[in-house]
Amino acid sequence: MEESAVAYSLPEQCWENSLSVLKTELDPQIFAAYIQPLQFDSFDGSRLECKVSAPSRFVCNHVNDYFKDKLTKAISQKSGVSNLHLKLVVNEDAIPAQPRPHVVVKKYTAAPKVLPQSKPAVSTIDSKYTFENFVVGNSNQFCHAAAMQVAENPGKSYNPLFIYSGVGLGKTHLLHAIGNAVLQKNPNANVLYLSSEAFTNELVQSIRTNTMEQFKAKMRSCDVLLIDDIQFICGKDRTQEEFFHTFSALYAKNAQIVITSDRLPQEISGLDDRLKSRFSCGLVADLQAPDYETRVAILDYKASTFGIEVPAKVNEMIADRISSNVRELEGALTRLCAVSSLRRMPITEELACSALRELLEPKRVNLSIDDIKKVVCTYFNLKLADIVSKKRTKNIAFPRHIAMYLCRKYTPASYPEIGYCFGGRDHSSVIHAISVVSGKLTSDFEMREAVDSVEKQLFGSR
Ligand code: ADP
Ligand code: MG
Repeated sequence: MEESAVAYSLPEQCWENSLSVLKTELDPQIFAAYIQPLQFDSFDGSRLECKVSAPSRFVCNHVNDYFKDKLTKAISQKSGVSNLHLKLVVNEDAIPAQPRPHVVVKKYTAAPKVLPQSKPAVSTIDSKYTFENFVVGNSNQFCHAAAMQVAENPGKSYNPLFIYSGVGLGKTHLLHAIGNAVLQKNPNANVLYLSSEAFTNELVQSIRTNTMEQFKAKMRSCDVLLIDDIQFICGKDRTQEEFFHTFSALYAKNAQIVITSDRLPQEISGLDDRLKSRFSCGLVADLQAPDYETRVAILDYKASTFGIEVPAKVNEMIADRISSNVRELEGALTRLCAVSSLRRMPITEELACSALRELLEPKRVNLSIDDIKKVVCTYFNLKLADIVSKKRTKNIAFPRHIAMYLCRKYTPASYPEIGYCFGGRDHSSVIHAISVVSGKLTSDFEMREAVDSVEKQLFGSR
C-alpha cells in the first residue's frame, strides 16, 4: 500500500444505498435492465477502487458508456469516499449458457480508440465516434470520403464542408470522426465541436457577462470548427451575425469549417442570405438512408461492438423491417440485447419479434389488388362480382371502400388503376373511398375492427 493511501472499507449497506440513489434518477426500465443486474464485487482501499461486476459484456459496456459517472457519484456520496474509481468487469459465471447461434457474425477489427494526448480534459470531441467505427455503404460513401479528405487536409480541400441529411444518419458521428482524426494526427490542433445551440448559448452568456472578446477569441482561434445542426440558428439574428464574422475570420485564415444541417443551405428558411451563399461555396454533401445491405452491415458491426452474437437471420429481419435511420437500428439492437439479458433468453427471431414489436415496420410483402379483393370479400362474405359491381348499398360500398383504401396502402397502384380494377370507377371515387376510410379509422370502431382484421389476414397468411 502506498504511504499516502488511506485504507477504507465500504459499509455493507453502501452498495444497496447507492443503487437506491440511481433508482430514483433513472427510468425504471433502464434501471432494471442495466443497474439492477450489477453486483458489488470488492473494494480496494489502497487504490480507492470499487469493483463491480456485470452479467454480460453488453451490460458492462453500456454502463461504462452511459452510467459510470452517475454510479461513481452515488457510491462516493453514500460511502463518503471521494476520488473513488469504479471498475466494471464482466462476471463470466453469471452469463447463462445460451445455445450457440447457427451463424457467427463477422468480426470487425475496428482500430482502437485514440484519445488525443495533450488536449485539455474538456475537449468537445467525443472519442466514441471515429471513422473506424463508421460503416460505409452506397448511401454514405461520398460524404464519408469528403469527411476523411477534410480530416486529412484541414482547410485545404473542401472549405466549408456542408453535410446534410435526415435524422439519425450519421452527421454528428462524422463531425466527431473528423475531430478525432485531426487530433490523432496533430494533438495540438485547436478543434472545436459545437451544436449551433451551444454556439448561441455561449454567445448569450458572453454578452451577459461582458466577455465578448473572449468569446470571439475562442471561436476565431480554431483550426477546425465543427458546427452541428446549423438549422437551429435560423431566425436568431444576433447569432447569425456573430456566426458570419466567426466564419469569415476562420475562412480567411484557412481554418477548416464543417457544418451539418437537416437540409440544404438554400432550404433553411430564416437563414441570412450571406450565410446561405457562404455555406454553399465549398462542398455540399448529403447522407442518404442506408440501403438493406448497409443496414445489415451496421447491425453486424454494432452487435460485434456490444460483444454479442446475433444470428444472421435476426439481423436480416431487423434490417428488413427498420429502414428509416441508423439511430433506430441501434436502438432496436440495444433493446433486443437488454431484453435477452434481462429475461436470460437467447437472441432468436421470435424474441426479436416480441421485443421489438412497436419498432418494426409491417412486413413488406408483394400484395396485388386481387389478393386484397379476395381477403376483403371473404371477410365480409361477399362475391367478387359484388365488390366490382355498380351496387352502392352499404353492405357492399363499405367493404369496397376498405378494399380500395388497402389497395392504395399496400400496392403501388395509382388512383385510376385502382378505380379501373373496381368496375371501371374513376379516380375521384377512389379518392373519396380512401378519405372516408382514413377519416373514420380512429373514431369508428366497426371500421377499425374490419381494417385490422383484413390486414391481419393479408399479412398473417404469408
Ligand atoms: P444525426 O446526427 O445525423 O442525427 P448521428 O450521427 O447522431 O445522426 O447518428 C445516430 C447514431 O447512429 C449514432 O450512434 C451513430 O454512431 C450511428 N451511426 C450513424 N451512421 C452510422 C454508420 N454509417 N455506421 C455506424 N454507426 C452509425
Ligand atoms: Mg446529430
